[in-house]
Amino acid sequence: MIICDTHCDTLHTIAVHPERKRDVTPETLRKGGVSLQTLAMFVGSSPKLPDIRRVFSGMKEAWEGMKASGARQALSPREAAEGECRFMLSVEGCDLMADGMEVLDEWYGMGVRMAALTWNYPNVLATPHSVDAVTGLTTFGRDAVKRMRALGVACDVSHLNEQGFWDLLDMGIVPLASHSCCRALCSHTRNLTDEQLKKLFEAGGYVGVNFYPAFLKDRGEATTADIADHLEHMMEMGGEGKIGFGSDFDGISRKPLDLKDPSELPGLTDILISRFGENCARGIAGQNLIDYYARAVEK
Ligand SMILES: [Zn+2]
Repeated sequence: MIICDTHCDTLHTIAVHPERKRDVTPETLRKGGVSLQTLAMFVGSSPKLPDIRRVFSGMKEAWEGMKASGARQALSPREAAEGECRFMLSVEGCDLMADGMEVLDEWYGMGVRMAALTWNYPNVLATPHSVDAVTGLTTFGRDAVKRMRALGVACDVSHLNEQGFWDLLDMGIVPLASHSCCRALCSHTRNLTDEQLKKLFEAGGYVGVNFYPAFLKDRGEATTADIADHLEHMMEMGGEGKIGFGSDFDGISRKPLDLKDPSELPGLTDILISRFGENCARGIAGQNLIDYYARAVEK
């Protein structure tokens, strides 16, 4: 079974907290049978551009280090193959595009194939969910997503606010949410409303479910059964064939009790097989992401 994950913060952890024990390692990926791990270049916890530039250069170094020790890069989810893990780059927070549109081209040149417009700060493109729900994309933001579409970089709406999301759909962009859950099951504003899920799936978009307990449940511990509940709700919103995993490993302080790192993913896929059947589970584990890129990003 091909397993793909659309989000982890491992590069940021290596660059900023090298002393921390990591969830995503060659060992845990191998044990979990992961074929494609997306590595986010995450803006980091300071909104100041000099700080963000420093964090980005640290993450680039971390990536070079991974490649030097044998990590293989994928430029598309279709390069995912069983028995080996390849790594695809993404950006989480386009704040550095304050330096100009050419920053996007530079990222593309590095192999970035997915970009979240914002993290938790407003930037030159858009406004995140954490600030307000009503401020739409900026003019530059609209130009930036058109450039992403032309290059073949998936536009990621995780962390974006509601109006920004609707602006993208109105423009005919087919986005993904790389690490987001359902607001109907957990009220956090990071999660997508039923209306958003329906329209996103109708447009041909994709959602990778986040494993963070605070996005899975309003209170208490979570387990893989809660992840399956969110996936099931997404399917009820039209998401069959359009959903998968966006773990957020190395970016979340708490994890589901039975899913502490990628090595435990086979436990999740077993639950999906028993609840939704083998075919559907295979889709969720990886094939649906490959299909989304073929349908909406690489066309
Ligand atoms: Zn995130």
